[in-house]
Amino acid sequence: MSARAGIVVTGTEVLTGRVQDRNGPWLADRLLELGVDLAHITLCGDRPADIDAQLRFLAGQDLDLIITSGGLGPTADDMTVERVARFCGRELVLDTALEARINDIVTGLMARFPGVDAAAVRDANRKQALVPAGATVLDPVGTAPGVVVPGTPEVGPTIVVLPGPPRELQPMWSAAVATDAVRAAIAGRTEFRQETVRMFGLPESGLADTLRDAERDVTGFDRLEITTCLRRGELEIVTRFEPQDAAAYSELLAVLRDRHGREIYSEDGSSVDEQVAGLLTGRRLAVAESCTAGLLTARLTDRPGSSAYVAGGVAAYSNGAKTELLGVASGLIERFGAVSEPVAEAMAAGALQRFGADTAVAITGIAGPGGGTEDKPVGTVCFTVALAEDGSSARMLTRTSVLPGGRSDVRERSTTVAMHMLRRALLGEG
Ligand code: ATP
Ligand code: MG
Repeated sequence: MSARAGIVVTGTEVLTGRVQDRNGPWLADRLLELGVDLAHITLCGDRPADIDAQLRFLAGQDLDLIITSGGLGPTADDMTVERVARFCGRELVLDTALEARINDIVTGLMARFPGVDAAAVRDANRKQALVPAGATVLDPVGTAPGVVVPGTPEVGPTIVVLPGPPRELQPMWSAAVATDAVRAAIAGRTEFRQETVRMFGLPESGLADTLRDAERDVTGFDRLEITTCLRRGELEIVTRFEPQDAAAYSELLAVLRDRHGREIYSEDGSSVDEQVAGLLTGRRLAVAESCTAGLLTARLTDRPGSSAYVAGGVAAYSNGAKTELLGVASGLIERFGAVSEPVAEAMAAGALQRFGADTAVAITGIAGPGGGTEDKPVGTVCFTVALAEDGSSARMLTRTSVLPGGRSDVRERSTTVAMHMLRRALLGEG
């Protein structure tokens, strides 16, 4: 059995969606690396009764470790340490060495704000030096220290209390993992391996069929924890298993390859974005976008070093922009429509030329909600990938897809289709 953990994310701003939770997912990844099984992530606002309820719930889930995020600041709505202390039946005691350290930090910070009364601020911060008796203090990264309260048979799991700002929480987590209390809580854990297969172009139902057969044919299938997830129009299959069950995973992978060899594009967890970035090394790419308005360019440039191979992109919505910026003949647009394969090809050719590129991608489509026709319903998107050959001509790969969903789905999905066309073209798979 591996150790089990739960996470309580606190903060009214996170609960209401004003701030998106970054701590839960980040901690989930760290726990996975440690081989700790994450059972729950719960979310509540800055209210004492709600925090208490989360602690009660998690303490009843047979966990070894609870991690809280948020509510360590000096203000009255920051109350996590106090709630945890009460929950564990421990007194809050003033840690004078810690108080001195916080004073130093605050005095340093206040030097930049000459109008503010540093003494008053120090008083407000005093509460941050109150720690549950017997807890281990985690040094502040900002001004707030974290604490680790060791588990007991009566109360249950060890509780790690971390600050809300991700830039403070992340370094403090390493310190927490190094404490005796956390080590003891997760000792005896089993190491897990996790493998990821990514596919494109297969509906989820097709995979469900294959997994049903695999359940029958693969020895040890029941010891594989398989989760499938549909994301950005791709299927992601994540399998978690203990090292001794590696053979079962190999068998599963063989079944997947056998059935879906064409759709599998990654067995090592790499994303299509990473693969395309690798394939573009030494090339010069230009992008011409209509319905995606730069989303593909943003995706292609979303990594350091991409300026070495992305020359640039044009977002051309109006017919005039397509003509003037990309050299698309206006007669072509009149004849075939702005959303058509000839126009996609002309946009790609124009992008190659305008940017002096050797590789181009063009997208033109109808993202909706209006604008569809019987011939070209909403979701109709035409794609071209152009690769300049030696000499003047370019090899064009063009396709039209009708993508499901609302406006943002169609736009996002379009960038995924384009990424995969680019990948196949660069691999010479057409
Ligand atoms: P502080 O001393 O800054 O008040 P704190 O530990 O009390 O630290 P919170 O008051 O809960 O933390 O949150 C402070 C800020 O940190 C939030 O307004 C938010 O911007 C960010 N933050 C908190 N929790 C999260 C989270 N789960 N994901 C992303 N950002 C968060
Ligand atoms: Mg706060």
